[in-house]
Amino acid sequence: MATHADFKTLVAHAKEYGFIYQSSEIYDGLAAAYDYGPYGVELKNNLKEYWWRSMTQLHQNIVGLDSSIFMHPKTWKASGHVDAFNDPLIDNKQSNKRYRADVLIEDYVAKVEGKLNKEIKKAQKRFGDAFDEAEFRKTNGNVLRYQGEMDAVSKRLAEAMTAGDMEELRQIIEDLKIKEPETGNAEWTDVRQFNLMFSTQLGNIAGEEGKLYLRPETAQGIFVNFLNVQKSTRQKLPFGIAQIGKAFRNEIVARQFIFRMREFEQMEMQFFVKPGTQLEWYNKWKEARMEWHRKLGHPSEKLRFHDHDNLAHYADAAVDIQFDFPFGFKELEGIHSRTDFDLSAHAELSGKKLQYFDPQTKESFIPYVVETSIGADRMFLAAMSNALVNEQVPGQDDPNNKRDVLKLHPAIAPIKAAIMPLKRNDERLVNLAQSIFQDLRVDFKVMYDDTGSIGKLYRRQDATGTPFCITVDFDSLDDNTVTVRDRDTLVQDRVKIEDLGRIIGERVDMRNLLR
Ligand code: ATP
Repeated sequence: MATHADFKTLVAHAKEYGFIYQSSEIYDGLAAAYDYGPYGVELKNNLKEYWWRSMTQLHQNIVGLDSSIFMHPKTWKASGHVDAFNDPLIDNKQSNKRYRADVLIEDYVAKVEGKLNKEIKKAQKRFGDAFDEAEFRKTNGNVLRYQGEMDAVSKRLAEAMTAGDMEELRQIIEDLKIKEPETGNAEWTDVRQFNLMFSTQLGNIAGEEGKLYLRPETAQGIFVNFLNVQKSTRQKLPFGIAQIGKAFRNEIVARQFIFRMREFEQMEMQFFVKPGTQLEWYNKWKEARMEWHRKLGHPSEKLRFHDHDNLAHYADAAVDIQFDFPFGFKELEGIHSRTDFDLSAHAELSGKKLQYFDPQTKESFIPYVVETSIGADRMFLAAMSNALVNEQVPGQDDPNNKRDVLKLHPAIAPIKAAIMPLKRNDERLVNLAQSIFQDLRVDFKVMYDDTGSIGKLYRRQDATGTPFCITVDFDSLDDNTVTVRDRDTLVQDRVKIEDLGRIIGERVDMRNLLR
């Protein structure tokens, strides 16, 4: 049986095999900042390429942008980030550790959900095939009680967050007797608002005037360029602008590896539409984005929609795509119908007309916007956690003969094939393996490896997700064939060297995902 790696194993694997390192590790690390190693950067680039091509290549009416991280400070005044990009901060009095009040409450709800799910699993076991989950949820006393509690707490939380009512958040924590997860202590300070933007200073202007922010989202770079892009590309509504880039948030709690970082990368697309059609587009993008995730091979039961309980002041609809990370279902991507809030706010503060002229109706108006926003790092974590399994070696009878394998979709695997000579001290094998490598590397990210026994090299390639291992043996010298080992099935095929490019290409081509 294959089991998915737990969180600790995943983090250790990511480091050991060169996917992710703690930032500044030799200085004991910097919290919530991470570096992508040689395999990590390839995987991340492939994920970004999949997103970028899905958006800009498959849609004639979506174009790309790469705007700067620094923007005029007024940008963040208009967008509401200076005044309202806050998280509710609470300290534990005993440990002096900081927490997000809303997250403490959400975690409480998740715990109750865990208990509810346990009841369902127990009943499933008891009733077997005759089990009717919907009926059980409607009638079982414990399940109803848990569901009632979850709904009531979520509603109270949503109302408090919408109203920005810090006292009420404190009261909920007190009423639920929420304790600090690590120490079990329940003495908390008051809840206060904490702005998440990092600021820095322009060198040549002192004081407030020279204050700059590191962008907390890439979207505003798109909004302020809306007319530039529309005019220079002659787009007609509806059309979109896509951007991939770094964003920075001074997160209060950042203890979940690359799930919540202070410096991270976003892939955002703002889709400009006629007012009144936004909900139609919102629903279309909701489905399109879910499909994008499924195509990568992420199973349906690991993905779900989660409607926002409290809508941001500018949104008229918002949903998260949640992924079942090793620590439970959490937001992976957000799809937001942002109305005309951003463009109107920028138009007002800048004094510039950010309007679209409709050539058919001869009217000018401010478009509405539907946004899809996903973190490249969270996507990376989702892909890694879905792919990393420990399983009995296929084709072997001994259940204790196990291997760690990263079953990434071949199109996003960091290395597509590893070429290895059966014996590293036989010049003829090495030369042939080298010449295959030189040939394939023009088309694919491949590697040559002769640093250990074939068995060891295979395991290493499994651990980094390489779909193919190509072995050059003594027969190869005579008949120009090699063995190609498939990462997932371990089936070894004998193939002609001249066919390698085609065989690899068919499997690793990003077109398999884009089609
Ligand atoms: P959360 O509720 O988890 O803080 P959010 O609702 O603030 O997330 P958005 O503002 O909607 O997130 O950002 C869009 C996407 O950017 C998120 O779905 C997530 O994938 C990513 N993201 C946001 N904050 C972080 C972070 N601190 N580290 C890594 N990725 C992030």
